Amino acid sequence: MGARSRLLAKLKAGEDIPGTGITLRRAPEQLELERRRPLSYYRRVLYFCGKCGQCRYVYQDAYWSRVCPSGELRKFEAYYLGGKNLLLWGLLSGKLEWTSKAAEILYHCTLCGNCVQQCQLPEIHNYALEWLHAARVEVVNRGLGPMPEHRRFGEWVRREHNPYMEPHSARLSWLGEKPKGKGEVTYFVGCTSSYRELEVAKAVVSLLKSSGVKFTLLEDEWCCGSPLYWTGQVDVVEELARHNARELEKTEAAVAVTSCAGCYRMLKQIYPEVYGVELSMEVLHISELLLKLVREGALQPERELSWAVTYHDPCHLGRHTGVYEAPRQLIGSIRGLELREMLRNRRNAWCCGAGAGVKSAFKQLASYAASERIREAEETGAQVLLTACPFCEMNLREAAEKAGSKIRVLDITQALSYSIKASRSEASQH
Ligand code: SF4
Ligand code: SF4
Repeated sequence: MGARSRLLAKLKAGEDIPGTGITLRRAPEQLELERRRPLSYYRRVLYFCGKCGQCRYVYQDAYWSRVCPSGELRKFEAYYLGGKNLLLWGLLSGKLEWTSKAAEILYHCTLCGNCVQQCQLPEIHNYALEWLHAARVEVVNRGLGPMPEHRRFGEWVRREHNPYMEPHSARLSWLGEKPKGKGEVTYFVGCTSSYRELEVAKAVVSLLKSSGVKFTLLEDEWCCGSPLYWTGQVDVVEELARHNARELEKTEAAVAVTSCAGCYRMLKQIYPEVYGVELSMEVLHISELLLKLVREGALQPERELSWAVTYHDPCHLGRHTGVYEAPRQLIGSIRGLELREMLRNRRNAWCCGAGAGVKSAFKQLASYAASERIREAEETGAQVLLTACPFCEMNLREAAEKAGSKIRVLDITQALSYSIKASRSEASQH
């Protein structure tokens, strides 16, 4: 046997090389894991984490930009993914105790997935979001969670079907006349556009009307379940999913469209994958539908807006469901808009800080993350920061106002609506 063959044989066997202190080992094959399993299922993989800290930075960019709002705010290892992995391994191995502090650390995270995007260990890259969510379910099962603010909105969703402490009867109060009859498209409005960011809902309805597409709304829309699901309050989510699916099917539309990235992920991914609730219609984000309508000529954004804009990728829409280009192409279809990308964009986008129960329970974290994003948007020289989710828009706008920033925060539906309305009013002047 030649030297090379001997070395390969040792490599296979994982032998020591005498006198060198080196043990040759082959890297294990990548483990195929199942999704949506209880936390204990992932125990053996948690210790794969090498605590190398790569998940703190965008390793693909020259500046090694930071990615984790939770860790960057607290500046303590436990709040980064590496620390959370070690914490969970300790908890599952019985080396650490389940305490309210452990629960607080696990909830102090937007589940944005930017850390997971950066980690190149396949099992962590592919599955860490599974255990970060499963950890919250475990915390709830152990009576250490959710956080009091989460429990409060959870009770309100059970009672009035929205997390904003608003009456269910006021859900459509922003809408003038409800579209009559059935439509090709059903607009699932979502709680944030129904109760807080009414301008987004109004822009969507105005655009659908302008396009001539026949559309309708649900007779009885309930919260999609996103805030409960991501805070580990999963017991009621299946009921919400089945209710909304029944209501959607009643409309007999070919397309269900959402303007909220969180609702989109629930209808498109969580309802079928977790609860087996398959819709017979196609689920689209509003950016995808509007882009199609613009390309078909049903919508004509003719008026030049002359704005330099930048675009914030909502985590639910980008990293979690892969819709990166439709919003950018829609922006590109509006004459006069110049898109200036932020350094951290698409898969590496810094989170707005609102999601997964953070805005209600950890206001400092939500505000810190959004103000960082506003600063990054300002660095592009853009006058307008566009996004494609009313929840991101709300958090970013509040941060811009708090910082006294001149940048204007808008949803892409609003920008398109201005362009269409402007062209219509211009036309009527001629
Ligand atoms: S999660 Fe990945 S990148 Fe982060 S410390 Fe662990 S191995 Fe390193
Ligand atoms: S999911 Fe986001 S907030 Fe949570 S640890 Fe990872 S990067 Fe930090």
